[in-house]
Amino acid sequence: MAAEEIVSGVYGIGMAMGYVNAFLIVDEGGLALVDSGLAKRKDTILSAVAGAGKQPADLKHILITHHHIDHIGSLADLKEATAASCYAHPADSPIVRGDQPQPGPNPASLMGKLAGPVLERLSTPAPPVAVDVEVADGEELPIAGGIKAVHTPGHTPGHLSFLLPRHGGVLFVGDAAANLLRLGLPLGMFTADRQQAKESIRKLAALEFDIACFGHGRVLKGEANLRFRRLAEKLAR
Ligand SMILES: [Zn+2]
Ligand SMILES: [Zn+2]
Repeated sequence: MAAEEIVSGVYGIGMAMGYVNAFLIVDEGGLALVDSGLAKRKDTILSAVAGAGKQPADLKHILITHHHIDHIGSLADLKEATAASCYAHPADSPIVRGDQPQPGPNPASLMGKLAGPVLERLSTPAPPVAVDVEVADGEELPIAGGIKAVHTPGHTPGHLSFLLPRHGGVLFVGDAAANLLRLGLPLGMFTADRQQAKESIRKLAALEFDIACFGHGRVLKGEANLRFRRLAEKLAR
């Protein structure tokens, strides 16, 4: 089973993707995918589309939370297979387009300093992809009855989270936070600006949502925003 239904019409594509999640939103107006996983995951994602009873051509939108390779790895292949439009923030889109190189791990974090040079040599950049729609903070996208884009910089300068108002609010956090062992900041080595990342957690904590879906870690169900509020308080101390 490639995908797991989180709530009606929202699927998580986890396990088979490796350590990163992507999410599928099913709507009469067409399907939307949040992030595209690592490279060579096109078939995994398309089998999730099939599992929702849809065709590849039904995938109309691919919302990109940020430019990291584990979120845009299969973007080029998916766009070719489906003709979906790609959405990203203007601060990250030059990297998605291949106009700017992928920045390496943050040398200000100890892990970044130690492992950064090795990782940079090992990593293959994602193939460049056209960004069809540049999305600004607060913009309401005409997808699945209206998805709100929230600019959550820090992890990357153009990081976006997406809020689907259905089901009491489903927040697609991206890597603005992670829920691995517990809810917290994303991994420091891959986070460009930690202070900004904390401010973005505060911004998310002010939103109304019941469910939070992460790039890394398990889905939080039931008053998820209260968990974010507690985290924001903890980070402020
Ligand atoms: Zn990331
Ligand atoms: Zn990630």
